Amino acid sequence: MGLGASFAGLDYLDTDSLLSDEERMIRDSVRGFVTDEVLPIIEHHFRAGTFPNELIPKVGELGLLGANLHGYGCAGLGAVAYGLIMQELERGDSGLRSFVSVQGGLVMYPIHAYGSAAQKERWLPALAQGKAIGSFGLTEPDHGSDPSRMKTKAVKRGDKWILNGAKAWITNGSVADVSVVWARTDDGIRGFLVEKDTPGFTTKDHTGKFSLRASVTSELIFQDVELPADAILPEASGLKAPLSCLTQARYGIAWGVIGLAQCVFDEALQYSKQRIMFDRPIAGFQLTQRKLAWMATEITKSQLLNLQCGRLKEAGRVTPQQVSMAKMNGCRVARECTHLAREILGANGVADEYQTGRHFCNIEAVYTYEGTDDIHTLIVGQQLTGIPAFE
Ligand SMILES: Cc1cc2nc3c(=O)[nH]c(=O)nc-3n(C[C@H](O)[C@H](O)[C@H](O)COP(=O)(O)OP(=O)(O)OC[C@H]3O[C@@H](n4cnc5c(N)ncnc54)[C@H](O)[C@@H]3O)c2cc1C
Repeated sequence: MGLGASFAGLDYLDTDSLLSDEERMIRDSVRGFVTDEVLPIIEHHFRAGTFPNELIPKVGELGLLGANLHGYGCAGLGAVAYGLIMQELERGDSGLRSFVSVQGGLVMYPIHAYGSAAQKERWLPALAQGKAIGSFGLTEPDHGSDPSRMKTKAVKRGDKWILNGAKAWITNGSVADVSVVWARTDDGIRGFLVEKDTPGFTTKDHTGKFSLRASVTSELIFQDVELPADAILPEASGLKAPLSCLTQARYGIAWGVIGLAQCVFDEALQYSKQRIMFDRPIAGFQLTQRKLAWMATEITKSQLLNLQCGRLKEAGRVTPQQVSMAKMNGCRVARECTHLAREILGANGVADEYQTGRHFCNIEAVYTYEGTDDIHTLIVGQQLTGIPAFE
């Protein structure tokens, strides 16, 4: 298992003292799950380009799916405990964290917030237990950063909806039992629950990814797909509905990537103390210490940023712009940490016997999805200046 087995996390500023006993306990139990059950199998799945399906019942049993939602068998945890779960899962692999984020933040959340009583009863308990899988289709082949110009269209015909269009880069797309699909209607953008095997609905996986290899990513194609009237999410109206889902998922990403950063920091630190060059551990060179000190400082600052966002979220006061800052910051820090850790590992930094190379690849997709660094910069910029630079 290499250097990850003895992972203890980085707590330079005693941020543990800002967590409750329950939050620390949840964090530690997910950390143990990742060490015992994720790390031993993840490299195999990354190489094979497969998602570790065997983990789905386990994350369901542990209550990690939709963990911050209430009712329907969900754990009803606070935002900080939820963030800590994401942090620990992404220490294992971004593909696993993406699965849990999509299921909870992008599928269960909109059904919970905008669904009918019947939709909630039908899907939420099964999704919480991992007995059903969900996906979220917003991005299209020609519309990524700007979903407001989406082409996918749903037209009312009698008491049915007819759906046409395509979505691209959809996590869990081809394996989902239910997809939350956003489409243009005469009444603005609306969300629809599209079930697997509905006639006219097909999928095609994006293959050849060098990032998030242990995650299914697919194109969704809709050709005259006939949906019943009750497939629409009744309370979701306009682009603000999918954007509210993205805020949930971005919040989880902000925490997740700091788990990834702690993993590569830990691996680089341990490696640098063991690797002897010029008759001493490379950890003894000032240039190596500079890299380690930079990583530890940025991770520590990010932990505090995430924690305060979490506390604001628990108080119902966090803004989408604050979440943008946390997602943007976390991804930048994690990305740079993977570069520095890879350098410290020398040639071993490009070998998949170590975890750093896999995280180095994964962070590229995470940096881009759920709003690129550019887009989050412009969201924060708009709030600071009052001037939208991208509309
Ligand atoms: C592995 C993976 C999984 C994904 N999962 C999902 C999913 O489950 N559901 C889903 O809906 N989507 C998903 N996505 C899609 C993801 O959200 C989009 O890729 C992302 O929003 C960026 O869109 P794009 O790739 O079309 O890039 P584009 O929007 O074409 O952007 C290309 C570049 O231009 C820049 N740019 C664009 N506009 C501006 C501007 N105004 N100012 C400055 N720069 C700009 C961007 O920052 C970027 O650098 C996934 C993507 C990946 C890679």
